[in-house]
Amino acid sequence: MNKPEEYNREKPVTLIADNPYVLRVGFSKDIPENDIRSSLESGDTGFLHSFTTGSAVDGPGMRVVAWTSGCQFRCIYCHNPDTWKMRNGIPVTLEKAKKELEKYSAGLKLMGGGITISGGEPLMQQRFVVKLFTVAKGMGIHTALDTNGSLGSRLTSDDLEQIDLVLLDIKAWDPENHRRITGYDIAPVIDFAESLAIIKKPVWIRFVMIPGYTDNPDEVNNIAEFVSGLGNIERVDVLPFHQMGRFKWKELRMNYTLEDVETPSNSEVELACSLFRNKGLKVF
Ligand code: SF4
Repeated sequence: MNKPEEYNREKPVTLIADNPYVLRVGFSKDIPENDIRSSLESGDTGFLHSFTTGSAVDGPGMRVVAWTSGCQFRCIYCHNPDTWKMRNGIPVTLEKAKKELEKYSAGLKLMGGGITISGGEPLMQQRFVVKLFTVAKGMGIHTALDTNGSLGSRLTSDDLEQIDLVLLDIKAWDPENHRRITGYDIAPVIDFAESLAIIKKPVWIRFVMIPGYTDNPDEVNNIAEFVSGLGNIERVDVLPFHQMGRFKWKELRMNYTLEDVETPSNSEVELACSLFRNKGLKVF
């Protein structure tokens, strides 16, 4: 069950997956570089790991989630490292994504839900993402972007109008710790958070608590201090680190360094939650 679903010319893959932990590789490997580039420029085709349905945690109500391929971060705890390479994703035309969404549109509206685009990092293919959100808004469906925030400057103010909610990951506060965990600088993430605050865009902050890496109370407190001052944060999700993606690192023969890290206990998670609550933030 945990073996990779690999591209097979003879066997078309189903876009819908039971969950994002399905390991998918190589679905765009035969596409010429020029075609990938022109797809990214036009936004008429996206590269997706999958669509999943029935999520109750990726935005308000019941959500369809489109999981994109391509991410520039290299988070040491990443649960979906098969989404790092865009070429692992399934090429999906905007028309096909629209048809998929139409199947769920009535139910999503009835249940106060919507579509969330996650990844990977969706803004690696921001033109497709904005076009798909525009389609969803045309159907009257709520839209949410789940992002690491580092490519937020790619979005224009018109693009942002197609996004009802941003789920913004803040992986760490200390710049060195952020780089240790993601391989990248935190400054663009902070800039994006501040630009969303200026336009009062609703934001949910997502913070993954990793014992030994992000559970230092000073680290958590600094994030809480920053986000509480923004004024547009509707809630904070403290997500305990887990090992559900470990098998992917093994299957992909990647060096996984968190083998011995355990899921934080309830009381450890509660302590982090209390640090956010102490700053007046709603925590889930
Ligand atoms: S930003 Fe998300 S998809 Fe990208 S490496 Fe980090 S956890 Fe994985």
